[in-house]
Formats: sequence, structure tokens, C-alpha cells
Amino acid sequence: MLYYSLNRQSAPADFRTAAVAGQAPDGGLYFPESIPRFPAGFVESLASLSPADIAYTTLQPYVGHTMPEAVLREICAAAVDFPFPLVPVTEQISALELFHGPTLAFKDVGARFMSRCLGYFSRHETRPVTVLVATSGDTGGAVASGFLGVPGVEVVILYPSGKVSPVQEQQLTALGQNVIALEVRGNFDDCQRLVKQAFRDEAVTSRRRLTSANSINVARWLPQQVYYCYAVAQQQAGSAAPVVAVPSGNFGNLCAGLLAYTSGLPVGHFVAACNANDAVPAYLKSGSYSAQVAVATLSNAMDVGDPSNFSRILELFSHEHPVIQQLLSGYSVTDADTTATIRRVHDQTGYLLDPHGAVAYFALEDYLRQQPGQPGIFLETAHPVKFPDAVEQATGHTVPIPAALDELLSRQKHSILLEPTYEALRAYLLETT
Ligand SMILES: *Cc1c(COP(=O)(O)O)cnc(C)c1O
Repeated sequence: MLYYSLNRQSAPADFRTAAVAGQAPDGGLYFPESIPRFPAGFVESLASLSPADIAYTTLQPYVGHTMPEAVLREICAAAVDFPFPLVPVTEQISALELFHGPTLAFKDVGARFMSRCLGYFSRHETRPVTVLVATSGDTGGAVASGFLGVPGVEVVILYPSGKVSPVQEQQLTALGQNVIALEVRGNFDDCQRLVKQAFRDEAVTSRRRLTSANSINVARWLPQQVYYCYAVAQQQAGSAAPVVAVPSGNFGNLCAGLLAYTSGLPVGHFVAACNANDAVPAYLKSGSYSAQVAVATLSNAMDVGDPSNFSRILELFSHEHPVIQQLLSGYSVTDADTTATIRRVHDQTGYLLDPHGAVAYFALEDYLRQQPGQPGIFLETAHPVKFPDAVEQATGHTVPIPAALDELLSRQKHSILLEPTYEALRAYLLETT
């Protein structure tokens, strides 16, 4: 399998090259030259396959010859070694819980897969590798946890000051070892812009081997397909193809689901559930896209004004707006509706949503009003404890902290404050090698 750059100025690359570089030299996102079909009988046998086997079968065509079978099998098994339960919330709606990994968010899957791939690919490397990543909250923690203590790898995380939750901030700033947190006085789009600029700066890239850990990296993006398969695997036998609602910010997660669908996974419809940052829902409505400036919301991991992976969605469907519109509905959900949904679902069902899951729940419920009887699944992308203020405000109850977090929360925070200018990031990157 080869990957081409969506900017079309760079040579095609194999999985190894694309994963190590993160982004193509021309600044474009890598995209697979063809989308493989699942092998015959795979979808029918999902319920009897292990999560690791499903991951291997899904990902092998994308990884191709760059890794021996045994290595890829081991990486797949390690990346998905926690549960992905499909939990009924109402008769029609179930939650696919993606928060049972080490940092309590779905990004653990991609981050664990990617960190192990990069570890394997750089096993003979003598220069230190710098994983440079912008986070709106959850990416950084998942990436940091995935790479913690990996020899020869330094992780530099940029996060928007004051815009991540206390648990998230601890997960970014308190791990120590090879993980460095840059606290940017700006928003997520600032962080993302600074990271993109560093990759284009030869003075920086000649000194550090930079690699990206954002959802643009194919090694993070592609493994997110597997839990869509786990959702279908756990549906009751004979169920109709589900409507799947995905709380979306940078759109890596949703775009991975669309890949699995293109490979043959039975999904009836997708719902792109956004907060006030509605660039993609606006595109779905009008057929024209304009980037926005991110605004802050309760579901802060989705505060993205100009989602990177949107260009991959366009590519997947050859930019055909009617085709995309047929498969994908967009919703923009207000903070007021998010809070009301957390409260109402908790009161009526006892299920505790986090704000991101609540955005998806609200959108899914609305979509299903026109589709009685069709099963709906929303991705619950984070544990509610990561967003305690929003959840407590909605339900009036404090969220019990899982014991697994006690030790992390008691540690000292270490971050370096950074102005939201490229000069500031550049100075840091050049002066600390
Ligand atoms: C990152 C994140 C999202 C958005 O995922 P994208 O792939 O960027 O669309 C949604 N929910 C949570 C909890 C997240 O951390």
C-alpha cells in the first residue's frame, strides 16, 4: 500500500515513511492509494473474532510489507488490550464506550498503535526522535502515555492554557520522563498552526527528527477503524446496519469510520456531531466549506475551527457533495443542549454522559426521530471524569474519580508557558537540542 499527499507535490510513501514523517514534505496529509475491501466472510464472522484479530485483518493491508506479520500482530494486540463495550442506554440507542484505556479516552487506541509502530520503525535510529503534537485536551495525554519511557523518543506537547480540564492537564504535565508540556497562551488552532509551521522549518527539522502524533498521522488515524467493527460485532444477531454518531472535532475518528464503511462494514448512516464549531455541518448543508476560528465550548476536545481530516473525507468521496450528504448528516449542538442532554439522560436512564458523548447523543436522537426502529450507536469518546465541571453542573452530582487516577492527580505539574507565536516555539525547539 502506498500513500499519496493530498497536496500532490510529494512522492508517494509506504506506511513506514508516512508514519515516521507524519505529514508529507509538501505539507499535505497522506491518503491511501486504494481502500482495501474486507476479506470475504470477515464481516459475518466479526462476533467470533478477537479484538486483536479484527485489528490485524483491518490494518494489515494498510501496513503492507513494512512490518513482519508477527510484529504487527503484537502491536495490534497491545493497542486494543482493554474492553470496548457496547452499552444499551435506551431501547434504540447504545453507547460504544471507548474510554477504558489508560487515559480514559478513545485516543488511546490510535496513540498506542502509533507509538509502537514508531518504536519499531526507529529501532535502529541513533538520532533522538521528537514527537511534536498539538492537543485540545485528550490527544496529548494519550500520546504521552503511549510514548512514556520509550528510549530515544522525546514527546513535546502544545496545549492551550486554561482550556483543558484538570485531569487532562495532569495527564499532559505530570508524567515527567521524556514528556514535555508547552502551555500555549492561545487556543487549539494556535497550537496546531505552530506545530504545522515547525514541520516546514528546515532549521528545526535538520536538528531534530520531527514526527507528528496528531490524528493526521496515518498510524494514529487508521487504527481508529477497528472499534467501528467492534460495535457491529456486539450488535444483536440480525440487527439492521446501525446509525453511528461520532462526536467530532478534527474529524480523524469519523473519517476512520468512513474508511471501515468503504471497506464493507455495514453502517446505515453516519452523524457528524459537532459543538458550536460547525464548519463541517455547514459544508454538509451548503456544499461549500469555509474554515472558522475555533470557539470555546463545554466539549473542548472538539473546539476545532478548521478540521484537518476534512480534506480526507472529501478525498474519500471524490469531493462529491451529494454522495457525502447521503451518507453523513451534520449537527451543531449548543452547550445548553449538551448540558440538558447530560442531565436528562442521567435522570431518565442512569447513564452518565461526558459532554462529547452528549453532543453525539443529542444529534443521534434527533436523527433517529425520522428513523424509528433503526438501531443507533454513539461513540462515547471519554470518561465523564475528564470533564467534571460540565457533568457536575448538569447532574448536580460529583463524578467519582476512578482509583486508577489517584496517583497521577497527586503529582506535581510541570509546564513551560509559551506565547502563541512561531518564534517562541522555534526558539524552544532550537535551544533545547
Ligand atoms: C479528540 C476528541 C474528540 C474529537 O475527535 P476527532 O477525531 O478530532 O474528531 C471527541 N471527543 C473526545 C473526548 C476527544 O478527546
